[in-house]
Amino acid sequence: MKNWTLQKKWTYSSAISIFLSFLTMCVILYFSLFNWMLISEKKIAQNTLNEVVQFLQSKGPFITIQDISRNRTLLNQIVNQKQSIRLLNKDGIELLRINDASNFPEYSKESSTEFQRDVINNQLVYHKVEELNFGTFSGFVEISHSLESFSELMNYILIAMLIFAVISLLISALIGYSLSSILLKPIKELRGEMQRAKQHKFSEKVNFHYSSNDELGELLIIYKELMNEVSKTIKRQDEFIYNVSHELRTPIQVVEGHLSLLNRWGKDDRHVLDESLKISLEEIQKMKRLMEEMLKLARREHAEETFQTSILEVALFLQKEYKLIHPKVAISMEINPDYFVTIQPTALQQIFRNLIDNSIKYNENDPIITITVTRNDKNMIITLVDNGIGISGHQFTQIFERFYTVDEARTKSKGGSGLGLSIVNMLVKEYKGNIDVESELGKGTTFRVYLPYSTGK
Ligand code: ADP
Repeated sequence: MKNWTLQKKWTYSSAISIFLSFLTMCVILYFSLFNWMLISEKKIAQNTLNEVVQFLQSKGPFITIQDISRNRTLLNQIVNQKQSIRLLNKDGIELLRINDASNFPEYSKESSTEFQRDVINNQLVYHKVEELNFGTFSGFVEISHSLESFSELMNYILIAMLIFAVISLLISALIGYSLSSILLKPIKELRGEMQRAKQHKFSEKVNFHYSSNDELGELLIIYKELMNEVSKTIKRQDEFIYNVSHELRTPIQVVEGHLSLLNRWGKDDRHVLDESLKISLEEIQKMKRLMEEMLKLARREHAEETFQTSILEVALFLQKEYKLIHPKVAISMEINPDYFVTIQPTALQQIFRNLIDNSIKYNENDPIITITVTRNDKNMIITLVDNGIGISGHQFTQIFERFYTVDEARTKSKGGSGLGLSIVNMLVKEYKGNIDVESELGKGTTFRVYLPYSTGK
């Protein structure tokens, strides 16, 4: 039982319960029919007996047994074909028998004056003895009423009921099976979906065909919502891991560059040693902040915080950094020192870094990058123009998608993974801003970042 499927349990229990109720009904019906028919058989026998007695008594005070023997044809008409009647004298000796259809028991003084059901010579009969006085005769009259046809009928009914019971068992099993299939369908669907979710590590969208508004329908909806929530959380975690690894690459490169500088020259040059250690420490601090910021982003926690970040300060900081790691890159700026935006400084650095990195990576000339900032009634507009290879128009929206790369081979050779712009897009959206792009193949690309400005300063 423990290892039975729900469907098997359901089929068996419904089949057994339908069968048992049918069987109970049959048993009650059979016994009621049995009693009712037995009573009516008894009535028939009693009627015959009464008619015989009445007939004999109506023949006047002088009639003898011999007279009756001669007139037995009349009596034969009263007694039916499955009955026998006999007249006995006071000592129980049989004097006359009418019809020989049914057997009599041995007469004894204790013979019952009530109807008795007995098997006599393999024949089931009802029999009864009554005192009889007519004319000069004084003795007994006995009737034997055969119950053979009654028992044949009852056997027939019993067999018919058993056949019906077996058929009902089969039908109820079939009904139970199909009913359980219908009712268990959504549960099976749910099980399939759960297995699919397990196999695909929650990445697949949950899909159900069951659309009724019953308890099972509600259960499936709850499961669907739950699974969507789980897959969103997992997706967010994955995003976080990808983003962190992407964002840590530049600072690690900087630290790596300085350490190899130290390795080659810095051991004896106190100035290089100090400078490199200072920059490496700064980069490590930056990585720490970056991690914290990414964590906050992953938890979507910073929404309430307000920042006043100077665009010029961030841009100057990066200009210095790039001069060190990419001396050939020319970054020029035109930024009003009074322009502030509402964004975490490390987030603004991340945005700049990803855009500048791309301008350097996707460029076949010596990179020239120009950063300018203007404002409209709501936002600061940071514009970054480069002289790179450009992007064709139909890819303007796709480049902001996760893992999208224009030319896979080229991107890979440049160390790209298709994440940089999706991170920029995510950051900008998180801080209620926007980003768009304009580009011409072979000429260069312009990115515009719109960020709400801070009115605090
Ligand atoms: P990655 O992190 O690999 O650089 P991104 O999401 O930053 O990926 O960029 C997506 C694609 O957009 C890149 O594969 C590249 O082809 C294209 N792209 C991005 N910025 C520029 C740019 N300034 N000039 C030309 N192509 C660019």
